[in-house]
Amino acid sequence: MESILILTHADESGATLTKASLEAITAGRELSARLGAPLAIGVIALDAAAAAAPFASIGARILAAAGEAFTQPRYATDVAACETLCRAAQPTLVLAPNSSRFARIMAGVTHRLGGVIDTHIAALAGSDTIEASRSFYRQRIESVITRAARPWFLLLDPGAHTAYAGEVGDASVEDISVDLPTLRTTVTGVRISGQSGAGGTIRPDASLLFVAGAGWTKKQPDGQIHTQQAADLILGFLRASGASLGSSKSLVDQGGDGNSVLPFLTHMNQVGQTGATPRHPKGLSTCCHGEEPHVVGWRFIAERRAISLDPNCGWTRGKADVVYIADAFQVVAKLNELLTART
Ligand SMILES: Cc1cc2nc3c(=O)[nH]c(=O)nc-3n(C[C@H](O)[C@H](O)[C@H](O)COP(=O)(O)OP(=O)(O)OC[C@H]3O[C@@H](n4cnc5c(N)ncnc54)[C@H](O)[C@@H]3O)c2cc1C
Repeated sequence: MESILILTHADESGATLTKASLEAITAGRELSARLGAPLAIGVIALDAAAAAAPFASIGARILAAAGEAFTQPRYATDVAACETLCRAAQPTLVLAPNSSRFARIMAGVTHRLGGVIDTHIAALAGSDTIEASRSFYRQRIESVITRAARPWFLLLDPGAHTAYAGEVGDASVEDISVDLPTLRTTVTGVRISGQSGAGGTIRPDASLLFVAGAGWTKKQPDGQIHTQQAADLILGFLRASGASLGSSKSLVDQGGDGNSVLPFLTHMNQVGQTGATPRHPKGLSTCCHGEEPHVVGWRFIAERRAISLDPNCGWTRGKADVVYIADAFQVVAKLNELLTART
């Protein structure tokens, strides 16, 4: 008989689980109900009781590796915590979010447990067997994986399940003591690559993806380039809306061509065939033509809107739900005005 352990971790506050962790709880609950398998939840947090409060009434065994050592993502402490939680719960199936924190340690945890692992899982189906789906080659090929080997670790892609939202209560948490190795790594802070001064612009949990295209740095109707104004408008919008920033390839490539560039953009922001395939409920494209190699990265964006000067752009040819044929400089300036007035 299968038994399930969901491994979760808190965010920077140390007392609240990440959204991706809550999504893993939804997936684990569904799987547990379908298989009739007992469910345990492992929590890595500073304050595990607070982190577990939102699923206090779920009826699962809750185990925690809690305390100061687990406030920061660090290989040695995270891998020891997950290994200890797994040994305590003895699961056959381990579900965990495919967060950067867990993605870098879970192969090591699996090895220590003598298990097998699959990553980037988007769905779990099957009635008697477990069928885990993931995509390859930029979401062009979907594969369905079944395995006989146990324990089987499954890292779930963020955004593929709804975040669990239960009644907050007093959770009964088993504190599991973790034997830590000598720690050689001290986490002194987080530096976000290429985005100094502007703060982080890639926010996987944001409800809106804001995409900037190459049009922002092209000559505008007055014959001039307005890169600084474009940067101010885009950053102003991100600040006011909390949106995540994506980009077309043309815009992020421009740095290499010696052209006028937006300094806070890196290839990490690129969406598309050779970029990322983010999952956000909504997307707003600006100054971007909407060509197929870009739009293929919008596969999981549920509601798509675009602002382009070109009435014949790719977005208007069936790739967006709503297209505003308008000047994005003007539209975003107005949006920022409205958003700022609201706060
Ligand atoms: C193998 C391969 C892989 C690729 N992978 C990717 C990928 O992963 N991601 C990706 O993005 N691309 C990718 N591309 C490139 C892609 O085909 C396009 O060239 C690119 O997406 C175009 O970027 P863009 O729309 O920002 O720029 P442009 O095509 O230059 O379009 C700029 C748009 O801005 C509009 N505009 C200008 N000023 C304004 C204004 N004031 N207001 C409103 N609109 C304005 C213009 O009308 C125009 O439509 C790939 C190409 C190949 C061949």
